[in-house]
Amino acid sequence: MTALPAGGAAAGDVLAEVRALRSADLPTHGGRTLAYVYDSGLGGIDELGMAAYALASSANGLDPTAFPSLLRMENDVVAATASLLGGTAETVGTVTSGGTESCMLAVLAAREGRREVRAPNVVLPATAHAAFRKAAHCFGVRAVEVPVDPGTFRAEPAAMAAAIDGDTVLVVASAPSYAHGVVDPVAEIAAAAAARGVRMHVDACIGGWVLPYLRRLGAEVPPFGFGVEGVTSISVDLHKYAYCPKGVSVLLHAGADLRRGHYFASADWPGYTMLNSTLQSTKSGGPLAAAWAVLRHIGDDGYLRLARETLAAVAEIRDGIEKIEGLRVLGSPDSTLLAFTTAGDDVGFDLFTVADEMRERDWYVQPQFAHGSSPVNLHLTVTAANRGGEAAFLAGLAGSVDVARAAGPVVVAPELVELITALDPDKLTPAEFEGLLTGAGLAGDGGLPERMAQVNVLLAAAPARLRERVLLEFLGLLYRPSALP
Ligand SMILES: *Cc1c(COP(=O)(O)O)cnc(C)c1O
Repeated sequence: MTALPAGGAAAGDVLAEVRALRSADLPTHGGRTLAYVYDSGLGGIDELGMAAYALASSANGLDPTAFPSLLRMENDVVAATASLLGGTAETVGTVTSGGTESCMLAVLAAREGRREVRAPNVVLPATAHAAFRKAAHCFGVRAVEVPVDPGTFRAEPAAMAAAIDGDTVLVVASAPSYAHGVVDPVAEIAAAAAARGVRMHVDACIGGWVLPYLRRLGAEVPPFGFGVEGVTSISVDLHKYAYCPKGVSVLLHAGADLRRGHYFASADWPGYTMLNSTLQSTKSGGPLAAAWAVLRHIGDDGYLRLARETLAAVAEIRDGIEKIEGLRVLGSPDSTLLAFTTAGDDVGFDLFTVADEMRERDWYVQPQFAHGSSPVNLHLTVTAANRGGEAAFLAGLAGSVDVARAAGPVVVAPELVELITALDPDKLTPAEFEGLLTGAGLAGDGGLPERMAQVNVLLAAAPARLRERVLLEFLGLLYRPSALP
């Protein structure tokens, strides 16, 4: 299949081809994929989003004076987000392409707000999303990682406060963290940041649109919005629990002064004076219009109902996991995400095999490697579409654990583990990386392995830096142009 046939293919044929390609993907609806995708379970939502997307996708958010519809919709979406999160008359915001861009812009604005600092740093709990490390990497800011409580996986306010120094431009907390779904003690951390005159960002990318509703339903949700003294910015992804088509997030600031640092202008070229509010310049109106339409259609009551269903599903899945011998939930999740690991030291099975077995049963659960006090675990992002399917999920999980236990732990030759831990990732050549990948079954002509447990056990043994490098080489092998016609 070439993307540029001489004659051009008929539209109907092309769409059939897209459908055929998509059939190999994980399902995005029905609750069987418990990471990456968010399904409200409501009929018509996707169709509405796509129709609005189509109406605005050719409009360009680069120039709000040329496309006032996008300006209006952005201001509406920002207002709705701010009102959920305790915004005031001073609150302003920006619609971005996703959580990573929102987090990056928060770091950029904070750095630009303190241009006099020569070696700026951002203080992060160890559980902060990797997007902040990307921001630090891209914007020349040092990431100062602070260990979290080893039992609850919540940030420790005293340790966070102690990590702040004269070069700190931003302090971060999560509401909740992606890995464990726990909400950091935002109020204490914000107070410590404010006492030092430092900005404080709440990463509510995944929780910002669901935690306020969970609170209204009576769940105990610690305060994390602009009502908390010292919070200066908040990120909220609409393509997560607002169930909007992908490509839309909101970054809120407590005041316009705080936002200015991520705005960019250049009049220094012969073209139009370029004014950008985000990292993108040309910016499709599609995701924004889709989000505006979905928010208006579902409405406040609709989101409350969806949160109620999600809360019920999470509770049932959590209870069920605790009842499966050999499994335990990590920490005490405050929201709609769960991470579980093996209980006890010698359970005799591998979580990676459990993940493979779930895949055999058409469920996707996401392996997370050990980091700091957090052991290897499996992550679940539970959405409203999981309501009603809890028993089937738990039966699949119990069956997968049984099979994994019968199979025993994955055995990897000790020499191989020794070899891997001794490798210096910064000295390996591309050819050596390829050798490693071939050895792990990730390179070569055979396609990807059906089962990942062997590979994951090896990757788990590798130090984080080596794992990063090996997997980036893997990515580089995946992204090779299709054979030329
Ligand atoms: C998803 C997520 C992000 C990053 O968002 P993307 O939309 O994947 O770029 C950042 N922080 C948290 C807590 C998240 O869950």
